[in-house]
Amino acid sequence: MREILLSIFKILILSSVISLPVWYFLNISLVGLYIITIVIQIVIGYIYNTWSQDRFEKNLSLKQLELQREIEETAAQATCAYCGEINLIPITPGGDNDFDCLHCEKTNAVYLNITVAQKTNLSDLPPYEISNLDPTLEETKKLFNTNENRTS
Ligand SMILES: [Zn+2]
Repeated sequence: MREILLSIFKILILSSVISLPVWYFLNISLVGLYIITIVIQIVIGYIYNTWSQDRFEKNLSLKQLELQREIEETAAQATCAYCGEINLIPITPGGDNDFDCLHCEKTNAVYLNITVAQKTNLSDLPPYEISNLDPTLEETKKLFNTNENRTS
């Protein structure tokens, strides 16, 4: 309420500052000047408010998106210890990661377990080959050839 009164007071002061000299020097109707300056100020104020609110909402949604991305990067799927439903929870290493289940609303404690493993390097392995050659058949052929050489 106080802000509205202050805004009306500011509008009237600005209208007076603009209207009084114009009325004094150009002899144009003071009431008309007052009405015009007040209307212009209200229109400009409305446009400014709409623009700033739009900008505020855009910034807010961008920040929410950024926050959501941050949460998704550090989030983990955790199964509730009470009802077994899966919850997506943010994980902070060394922090308190307790969460309230979205389904049963009971508080779960989270214990982090770090597993260490050797990193596999696939580029060191020989390339994977697909062959329709039957090795047992090839060996049989070799055996057959050696036998044939012996007989001839
Ligand atoms: Zn639950």
